[in-house]
Amino acid sequence: MLATLRRLPYEGAMRGDSFPHPSLERSHMARRNKIYEGKAKILYEGPEPGTIVQYFKDDATAFNAQKKDVIEGKGVLNNRLSEFFMTGLNQIGVPTHFIRRLNMREQLVRACEIIPLEVIVRNFAAGSLSKRLGIEEGTQLPRPIVEYCFKNDELGDPLVTEEHIAAFGWASQQDMDDILSLALRVNDYMSGLMYGVGIKLIDFKIEIGRVYENDYPRLIVADEISPDSCRLWDIETGKKLDKDVFRRDLGSLTDAYSEVARRLGVIPKTANVVKPTLIN
Ligand code: C5P
Repeated sequence: MLATLRRLPYEGAMRGDSFPHPSLERSHMARRNKIYEGKAKILYEGPEPGTIVQYFKDDATAFNAQKKDVIEGKGVLNNRLSEFFMTGLNQIGVPTHFIRRLNMREQLVRACEIIPLEVIVRNFAAGSLSKRLGIEEGTQLPRPIVEYCFKNDELGDPLVTEEHIAAFGWASQQDMDDILSLALRVNDYMSGLMYGVGIKLIDFKIEIGRVYENDYPRLIVADEISPDSCRLWDIETGKKLDKDVFRRDLGSLTDAYSEVARRLGVIPKTANVVKPTLIN
């Protein structure tokens, strides 16, 4: 009997993708050397030195993995959206680790040393900032605010200051200048892009990596940029189109992410994700 493949409607729209089904991709991936498995992604050794294959899982986690689920199609959407944002950043001269997308769930990226910081940029109050400072969610901030958290799951990625970063040697002063500049450039790019499709960029998180070019260190945007790591609100209605939909049980996460992808032209406008169809 032929295996039944479950296929999401937008999957068929991605021509040239060699692995249409997650289980097929996974069995293929088993032959690669796994370097690291995180909450939403797996990293494998790349085909050439200095490269890594980044695989996007369907797993969704929140509150430091206290809440977990598998959301079919999330990995495919985040792979496409991260490709879209990183390609745009590369094109305007903001260096990123992204090289090219390999298939539905994998992309080839540059290997880099990850700086152990989560760099958060906020344009409007929300989430932990609202809680910490008692500012109503959605309040416009006087200017973009950049925050740093120490990347450590056991500690729940605590907020740290530049004093901690310098004292513990997580990044140098030159690194911090470069990180701030990269974060603000990503913010300008992403805010403009989102505004153009009727979405407000409330905040986002990026990670930064260090690569060496002719023995000179250079910082680049790494990891992913997707609705998992941004807060995105519809400008008109305030509807949330990001991971808060999962964190706060506000409906279908793939509907929200597909909406973002559709507006940006990353998936066809006609693609709808009511329910995955079964094909034989
Ligand atoms: O929770 P908080 O308000 O600090 O999150 C700020 C932004 O950073 C949100 O867009 C959130 O999705 C993102 N974030 C993330 N990964 C984390 C913490 C926050 O992507 N570990």
